[in-house]
Amino acid sequence: MQLTFTDYTLGASVATALVLTAPEVLVATGDALTDGESLHTFLTEHALVPGDRPVTGTDVDEVRALRTRVRDVVVAPDEEAIVDGANQLLRAARTVPFLGRHDGTWTWHLETAPESTLADDLAVVIGTGLLGTVAALGPARFRSCESPSCNGIFVDTSRAGRRRFCMPQVCGNRVNVANFRARRRELQDRRGTGPLDAG
Ligand SMILES: [Zn+2]
Repeated sequence: MQLTFTDYTLGASVATALVLTAPEVLVATGDALTDGESLHTFLTEHALVPGDRPVTGTDVDEVRALRTRVRDVVVAPDEEAIVDGANQLLRAARTVPFLGRHDGTWTWHLETAPESTLADDLAVVIGTGLLGTVAALGPARFRSCESPSCNGIFVDTSRAGRRRFCMPQVCGNRVNVANFRARRRELQDRRGTGPLDAG
């Protein structure tokens, strides 16, 4: 697999998505990476085609182990630890970077060794993404989900950098609904009226 360091958003979003497949995040439904098929689906969803190799149970075990390492990097206590951990992920490439043309511009590339496993390739995608994010946007983009009932974490590569939730549609909505109910309860208490609904 060949990558450039300039497009760090791919690796950063794969890092977030991978961590969010874990059972400690998906408490209700459990681990989303249970077999080769679910891993294959995960990869294709991120335009990471596993090539002509079949995705095996060993790949699944290795990617789950990688998932734990990636979570540790994202929640690392300081920027040195983040960079250290992400640099370690890059070692899976076992090759040296080279300068090549990318869209007509001289760009740093990294290509994983031919014998690399799927988890190695993924580690390098994620490592370049995390390092690129630190370099371009800073370590404050590595965050925990603000929903109090969620163990999710994420890397915010948005331009504004104001992302608060790991899964905005799920965790953001949950918090909005909770805030709405709390406000309504407060109003009811002030007015001394009964509850407006049972929910
Ligand atoms: Zn969340």
